[in-house]
Amino acid sequence: MNLVFLGPPGAGKGTMAAVAKDFFNIPHISTGDLFRYNIKNETELGKEVKAILASGELVPDSVTIKMVQDRFTNDDTKNGFILDGFPRTIAQADALAQFKKLDAVVNFVLDRESIIKRLSGRRMCKSTGRIYHVLYNPPKVEGIDDETGEPLIQRDDDKEEAILNRLDVYQAQTEPLIEYYREKGLLIDIDASKEPSVVFEQLKKALN
Ligand code: ADP
Ligand code: AMP
Repeated sequence: MNLVFLGPPGAGKGTMAAVAKDFFNIPHISTGDLFRYNIKNETELGKEVKAILASGELVPDSVTIKMVQDRFTNDDTKNGFILDGFPRTIAQADALAQFKKLDAVVNFVLDRESIIKRLSGRRMCKSTGRIYHVLYNPPKVEGIDDETGEPLIQRDDDKEEAILNRLDVYQAQTEPLIEYYREKGLLIDIDASKEPSVVFEQLKKALN
């Protein structure tokens, strides 16, 4: 199954993808994770995009599309994939259509107030990318990853100023993709405000 998870930052796309990838046995491809991996490893790409990510702006389309195309040269995407955080612009969606046919685009719908609460409380394990929330999905021991024992971090772009910028960027550049995919008959709206197990049940039902 070739899937795109669409929706504002903080809607729960990564959280659901972590469950759905095991359930459907397909890889989870998060462009945000790929950029963060490059930043952590101080690659050329990482150096180029570090300040952009911290500000909440989008990485230029040409750079992002190339990174995704490179990722798709890996055989593991042959039987399906979950793209999370890509496409984020019409140009990216047009580019994707040139090399992959999609089965569905899942649109995670969440109001602005809830988005801000989720992003400001998000914590993650830097090495594994595992996602927590200080209130909604806390680790067993405060500030520590359940499996690796590493300290959890708050992403630079989950601080207040960057959150507000990311929401503006989402509205201006990514939201038009909702109509783009609806017109193609691919869009499935999911109420992302419910607890994760309920969101996942909706997702399974919609994809069946
Ligand atoms: P996205 O990938 O869309 O940016 P995440 O999956 O990282 O969003 O989730 C953002 C934050 O909200 C995280 O802290 C996560 O633990 C929390 N979260 C995700 N889904 C839910 C949910 N259904 N209910 C409450 N909190 C959630
Ligand atoms: P995310 O982890 O999806 O919230 O993405 C974190 C950041 O990575 C975004 O705020 C952008 O700076 C960058 N990014 C991720 N995906 C894309 C994309 N498809 N196009 C441009 N920039 C992206």
